[in-house]
Amino acid sequence: MRKNIVAGNWKMNKTIDEAVDLISDLKNLIDQEAELKSQVIVAPPFVNLPGVSKVIEDSKMHLSAQNCASEESGAYTGEVSAKMLKSINCEYVIIGHSERRAYYGEGDAMLSRKVDFALQSGLKVIFCLGERLLEREKGEHFKVIENQLKNTIFMLNEVDFANVILAYEPVWAIGTGVTASPGQAQEIHAYIRELITKNFNEQIANATTILYGGSCKPSNAKEIFANADVDGGLIGGASLNAEDFIAIIQSF
Ligand code: PEP
Repeated sequence: MRKNIVAGNWKMNKTIDEAVDLISDLKNLIDQEAELKSQVIVAPPFVNLPGVSKVIEDSKMHLSAQNCASEESGAYTGEVSAKMLKSINCEYVIIGHSERRAYYGEGDAMLSRKVDFALQSGLKVIFCLGERLLEREKGEHFKVIENQLKNTIFMLNEVDFANVILAYEPVWAIGTGVTASPGQAQEIHAYIRELITKNFNEQIANATTILYGGSCKPSNAKEIFANADVDGGLIGGASLNAEDFIAIIQSF
C-alpha cells in the first residue's frame, strides 16, 4: 500500500547510549506532533536495535535493520539473519544500499537471496537502487535502474512485491551534499513506476512507495517530496540529528 514514509538510516553511527539519547529526543519531538503525515522508520546499527526498540515501543515510529544475511542460518560468522531481526521486533530491513554494493561486493544474486529471506521471515524490504556518477554522465542511468530492478525485485511475485518499498538513491548524491534536483528525482521515480507497470501492472505501480535518498535535508526535503512520484525519503546524515530529522518529517 503506497504511503508517505521518512526513514532514517543511521549507518555505522552511535554507541548504545548515544542511540538511546537520539531516539528519545526524536520520540519527544514526534509525540508533540498533532498529526504525522508520513510513517517514520529508524534504522540503527544491529547492536542498537533492541535498545531503540524499547524506546519506540509505544510510539508511532517503526524499526528497520540496515542489512541481513543472504543465508537462512548456520555457520556464517558475523552475520545476522532476517529471522533474528524479526524476532526482535524489526519490521523492515534495508537491502541493496550502495555502500553494501560498493564496499561489500553485494551483487544482484546475493541481494535477491537477502530479499527472499527477509520476505519469508515476515520483514518488509526497503530496496535501494541508483546509478553512479559515471553512469549518469554517460546517459546510462535509465538502463542501470532497469537492470537493478529486473535482476532482483522484479523476479518476485505480486504478493511479495507488495511488501517492498523502493528507494532511489543516486550514488553521486549519497553523503556528498549534492542532491538530485527535484526534476531529476521525479524523472527517475516516474520511470521506475513505468517499469513496475510493465513488469506487473498499473495498479501495482500506483500502490508502490518510492523514496528518494541522497543528501536530503531540511532545506530541500519539501521541494523533493512535492513531486508526484516521490513518496518520501531515505535519510542518512540528517537522520543523526533529531531536530533535522523532524524538520524533514514535517516537510510533507
Ligand atoms: C543513505 O545513505 O541512504 C543516504 C541517503 O545518505 P545521505 O542522506 O547522508 O546522503
